[in-house]
Amino acid sequence: MPDFTTYSSLLRMTAKYKMPAIRSQILEAVRDAYPETFEGLKPSKPLGESVFGGPTPHPNEVLNLFVQQNLTSALPMAYYMATRRGPGSLMDRRLSRNATLSPETLQSAITGLMALREVELNETHDLIFESKGAHPCSTSNCPSRSPTGLASLMAYHKVFDRIVGSSHLGTKVLQVPEFYEDREGGLQCVGPDICNGCVERWESGHAELRKKAWAALPGVFGLNC
Ligand SMILES: [Zn+2]
Repeated sequence: MPDFTTYSSLLRMTAKYKMPAIRSQILEAVRDAYPETFEGLKPSKPLGESVFGGPTPHPNEVLNLFVQQNLTSALPMAYYMATRRGPGSLMDRRLSRNATLSPETLQSAITGLMALREVELNETHDLIFESKGAHPCSTSNCPSRSPTGLASLMAYHKVFDRIVGSSHLGTKVLQVPEFYEDREGGLQCVGPDICNGCVERWESGHAELRKKAWAALPGVFGLNC
């Protein structure tokens, strides 16, 4: 991948001189990092601005370029990459002109961020605190055996904070959460004593949430694609 400055001038040039074949080759390179489908969102793959060679551009700058160049298919992901850092990053006044969002783009980004954040908080909360329903966990020492007890509520809080807490008013809704941490020589759930069965249930629930959030991206950012 060329560095971002080269990349943007190549895109501008192919648009100006109407060179669709070369343009589509250049776009091919960006398709992996700004996937069009949920299946393209592989956790192991470098995504977003980190894919460019040279100094990593600010995600706002990439978003600006994609908006100007009308790269509709990459826009949902580009909006997400810019908004996940939160309003402070979207509106940072110290950024260069290229990374400063226009009022329209900023408004779409903030509206989308609020919507994603709400889905993320509500659904993660329900997932962790209310997913047992009528069937509490049957593993002997898992706090979920009594889901409304103090031990389970404290464990759930830790898990909830791990998933959404550190997103600093941004969002991590498309990110695969880490339910485990290295403790006392082994991998253990962030919520003390929570069993693997409970974590697996949360993992699959969060996978559903990611799919749902992905599908909502064009809508929340006001894109007609
Ligand atoms: Zn359990």
